[in-house]
Amino acid sequence: MKINIVKTLVTLSTPIISLLTMSRSIAQEWHPDAVIQSMYAGVAYIHGYKAIPRVYKPIPAGSRTRCGVMVAMNAFYCPLDHSIYISNDMIAFAYRFGDAALAYIIGHEYAHAMQNAYGFNRNNSHITELQADCLSGFYMKAVPNIVFDQRDIQEIQALAYSIGDHNRWSRNHHGTPSQRLKAVTIGMSASNLLGCF
Ligand SMILES: [Zn+2]
Repeated sequence: MKINIVKTLVTLSTPIISLLTMSRSIAQEWHPDAVIQSMYAGVAYIHGYKAIPRVYKPIPAGSRTRCGVMVAMNAFYCPLDHSIYISNDMIAFAYRFGDAALAYIIGHEYAHAMQNAYGFNRNNSHITELQADCLSGFYMKAVPNIVFDQRDIQEIQALAYSIGDHNRWSRNHHGTPSQRLKAVTIGMSASNLLGCF
């Protein structure tokens, strides 16, 4: 992942962004904190700084949250405290693919916060999950402060495919590997958010 310096300078006037400090992390693989902060800043910009969810520092599996105990290998949006939680081992898993894979997970959970805030998740079906994948893809394409190169896109697509599941009748069904890959890829080529509706 590369920082987009030209556009970053434009967005620096907003107080919640301190991207200048991130110019030191121009090196290829970003630290997880930098990925999380930059995605937050970029997606908040896309949504006009409205309904920004809180993010909790990565937590170990077994930690308590307002939405129950964090299980291993998980990330979720908790509507009760409008926060995104991610477990340490999920971050480690994402980095088996690369830093862009973490950006995809953050984008997916941020999308759930927006689905909730604006009421466009009608149910808990895998359609909602695939829309979050698509929105995450769009975010990564559209954030003004990060450039995802070809290798990043491969990381994102590899993770999307690997976390698909075939539990079609489970409440936790997120879509099959090929459906998740397709959803995030559609998002990355969408010209605006409506491409995911
Ligand atoms: Zn989800």
